Amino acid sequence: MKRSLIFMLLVAVAVLPASAQLNYAATQAHSHNDYAQANPLLGAFGLQCGSIEADVFLQNGELMVAHTPREITAGKTLQSLYLDPLQSQLKAGKMYSLQLLIDLKTPFNPTLDTLVSQLKCYPELVGEGKPLKIVVSGSMPAASDFEKYPAWIGFDGRFDQVYSSQALNRVALFSAPFSVVSPWKGQGLFPKEDREKLVELVNTAHQKGKKVRFWGTTDTEAVWKELMAVNTDWIGTDTPASLINYFKSVKPADGEHTQPTEAYIPYIPSYKSDGTNKTPKNIIFLIGDGMGLAQMHTGLIANRGQLHMALFKHLGLMQTQPAESFITDSAAAGTALATGHKTKNGTIGMDATLVARPSLAAAAKQRGKKCAIISSGPITDATPAVFYAHQPKRSMQEEIAGDFLKEPMDILAGGGTKYFFDRKDKGNIGDSLKARQYDVFRKYSDISNDNKAEKFVVLDDQAALSMEKGRGNFLPLTVAESIKHLQKTAKKGFFIMAEGAQIDYAGHANNVSYVVNEVLDFDKAVGEALRFADQDGQTLVIVTADHETGAMSITGGNEKEGKVKANFGSKGHSAIMVPVYAYGPQSQLFGGIYQNTELSNKIRTLLEK
Ligand SMILES: [Zn+2]
Repeated sequence: MKRSLIFMLLVAVAVLPASAQLNYAATQAHSHNDYAQANPLLGAFGLQCGSIEADVFLQNGELMVAHTPREITAGKTLQSLYLDPLQSQLKAGKMYSLQLLIDLKTPFNPTLDTLVSQLKCYPELVGEGKPLKIVVSGSMPAASDFEKYPAWIGFDGRFDQVYSSQALNRVALFSAPFSVVSPWKGQGLFPKEDREKLVELVNTAHQKGKKVRFWGTTDTEAVWKELMAVNTDWIGTDTPASLINYFKSVKPADGEHTQPTEAYIPYIPSYKSDGTNKTPKNIIFLIGDGMGLAQMHTGLIANRGQLHMALFKHLGLMQTQPAESFITDSAAAGTALATGHKTKNGTIGMDATLVARPSLAAAAKQRGKKCAIISSGPITDATPAVFYAHQPKRSMQEEIAGDFLKEPMDILAGGGTKYFFDRKDKGNIGDSLKARQYDVFRKYSDISNDNKAEKFVVLDDQAALSMEKGRGNFLPLTVAESIKHLQKTAKKGFFIMAEGAQIDYAGHANNVSYVVNEVLDFDKAVGEALRFADQDGQTLVIVTADHETGAMSITGGNEKEGKVKANFGSKGHSAIMVPVYAYGPQSQLFGGIYQNTELSNKIRTLLEK
């Protein structure tokens, strides 16, 4: 088997449990500073912890286990506290596959040589195929010198270090202090931006085929839950027993939507243009972020069995896997949809080799069409960004906002105002846009103003609130007003991408009512598109999701009452395929099961006809 294939498999295994939240076991517990426990080694060993950590100091030729030099106590050596007892466990037939993370507190030269010569006295424990895996941390040799040590010694990887592929083979896992991600200690909500940083580091390790751990995490269920939700491989703890109890206690999350709002009556399309052979002049592309079949179906039930999305006759199913991982994020999924290229998680508008690729919006502009990009979240977030920006990391939101000036669309509407007006670099993109004859609206209701400039942006943080917190009708209104505006100004037709961003947030929160309210809002935008498609007769409407979020399933409900009961298998994204709904000319091309890149290519072909 080729190394790359092995890597892919490792990554698949590592990332597969997005529902890992339910699947964590003691084998993923890392007993941090284990020697400080009342019962060093044997406590964690009795719990079958997969990883145990000891700090060692070289003193008078002996490896002493302690936290600081002052705490060094005669007799407490690596051999007496760890290696000898493990040898006894092995003889008693109780040994299991265990990682011993040895943190060298004195310089590796000569501490590491002493360690290697001691370990060689335990050939049944350590060595090729033996149960005790040794990982060296703390004072480590240069990566180029890793190969000078026996192959059964692994090293603790650092994110800020560049490894040759040879050195990377010797990296057993990547570690970082949790403080680089967040100061969060489990009180209140985990900030979304910090979660994105956490995901980025986990993905970086997984893309290299490595496991990951964070040290300095607070031992609370809230922190563990977040670490597990993003598939952190090793959960470090000073309280292994409580962590493992927590692993056992985590059950699928159940939720209910019990207070349905009044149902709305969907617009019933005429189907006159549906499935016809004409080339569409306009394309409206609606993306429900995180909207799998279960999310759409909860909306259908909550709205008493009626939904615009339930009226489409041309349906397909789409696979969302990114390059180099198994489960996609919105950046890689959006890039696939926008550019037709699979890429790595976190990447905006660039392929897996970081080459910028033109989006569908750029292709439409090239054909003289006008374009609008709309999101009910920050407009610099991954899904809208992939249509106008090219950046290696989704977290580079100021750069993404800056890219809009390089690839300007006719309409841009969403939240995320600070990346335009309140930038760390002190630039003001709002002013640059005004200089280019854009109207800049800071309140989305102004979009209904009839004397708008030909090009305009709506940057209003109210647009990024949840429906429950008061977003109002931003999304359906903006879609309807953009259509109205482009119908007048776009002689050669238009391309609109509008995103229902928060169906994804709702899935991450495992909150059924949140899902319902966001799906219904998105569906109203779908209704606006269908209404116009009928009026116009030459507009193709495509509705899909970038990926599914929450591994959601429906476990109960009542369509007459609009009540839904659901269950989530994950706090993250899942790999399950998502539906594609098509209406209008050429909608017949969208049946079948295909990759997200293929959906993009189908749309591009129509745009370029
Ligand atoms: Zn998401």
